[in-house]
Amino acid sequence: MREGMSESGRALTIPFVDLHAQYLSIREEVDAAIRAVILESGFVRSRFVTAFEQEFADAIGIGHCVSCANGTDAIYIALKGLKLQPGDEVITTAHSWISTSETITQAGGTVVFCDTDPETFTIDPSQIASKITSRTVGIIPVHLCGQAADMDPILAIASKHKLWVIEDCAQAVMAQYKGKRVGTMGTAATFSFYPGKNLGAMGDAGCLVTNDSALAAWCELYARHGGKGEHQIEGINSRLDGLQAAILSAKLPHLGGWTTARQRVAARYDELLVGSRAIRTPRIAPDRTHVFHLYMIRASNRDALQQHLARKGISTMINYSRALPFYPAYSRFRHTPDDFPVAFRNQQEILSLPIYPEMRDAMIEHVARATLEFVTQ
Ligand SMILES: *Cc1c(COP(=O)(O)O)cnc(C)c1O
Repeated sequence: MREGMSESGRALTIPFVDLHAQYLSIREEVDAAIRAVILESGFVRSRFVTAFEQEFADAIGIGHCVSCANGTDAIYIALKGLKLQPGDEVITTAHSWISTSETITQAGGTVVFCDTDPETFTIDPSQIASKITSRTVGIIPVHLCGQAADMDPILAIASKHKLWVIEDCAQAVMAQYKGKRVGTMGTAATFSFYPGKNLGAMGDAGCLVTNDSALAAWCELYARHGGKGEHQIEGINSRLDGLQAAILSAKLPHLGGWTTARQRVAARYDELLVGSRAIRTPRIAPDRTHVFHLYMIRASNRDALQQHLARKGISTMINYSRALPFYPAYSRFRHTPDDFPVAFRNQQEILSLPIYPEMRDAMIEHVARATLEFVTQ
């Protein structure tokens, strides 16, 4: 739903994200990028794709970027590149979008879930060691909502047990941990350019990045049918198309400004919602920057709050309705709430408020006011 104001000026409708507002702010650049691709018929494997890969690698500060069709494929391709074998166990967080875990299964491995830290919605490193067995091969931390997972202890455990680490950076492009950008700390890292992500294409898109040139070369080969002309291996078809690449190149220079704008919205929410005992605003751990893909609060009366906000014309989301182990897709593990108490509590309390760079002050205030009104009534 688009934002709008009634004639009385009272009924402000606030969407969860507003991709149209973003398009209008960079319309000429995006239109020119699309036109250029069409004029050259540069739809697949064109210079637009290699240009974006280079620009994105430079922006992250990493050696190689292999673009692909979406962020889910990026994880799958990285897992294949790391030679996941049947029976291999991969430890990942109980709180993420299902891409993080479904790809482990698709690539032939076994998912092992780990609970989250009580404050940051990211994997709790203190619980990883107890999940390690002789079959564990890697860890996939997710920088959920736009805040980095606690990477130092994760990397320490990985190095002690000779495990690889894939950072799932889908929600956290440009976030930092102790001065390092997410995507540069693990063995490999994956990004999604789904339209609603902080750097979004106009369709599905994604990439993986790594400093390991042999891994990058294998993943590139695998994602492109095992090589053009001379097929060295059997691969898959997972490509970033030229139109999406050109759109992403047009948008990338704006990402810094958009990130600052998101952080400003979050800071304003923090200011306005502070002091409300019924609501917990997101906590930013020391030494981390948060890029606020999501502004996820916790409220004990969450469902009623969501309905109240909906009545006020405010769209919110629950990211996600259940922690991963509790979806029917994982009923085979027979997990109980006691296995992941933090993630289980969060699935009942979390609510994501609207956040996007184009949100104006009046809109932020309207959301905060409606939220406070509910919790104090
Ligand atoms: C969006 C997302 C993905 C997958 O991205 P797609 O491009 O939609 O396939 C993976 N992990 C997380 C945490 C995400 O939010």
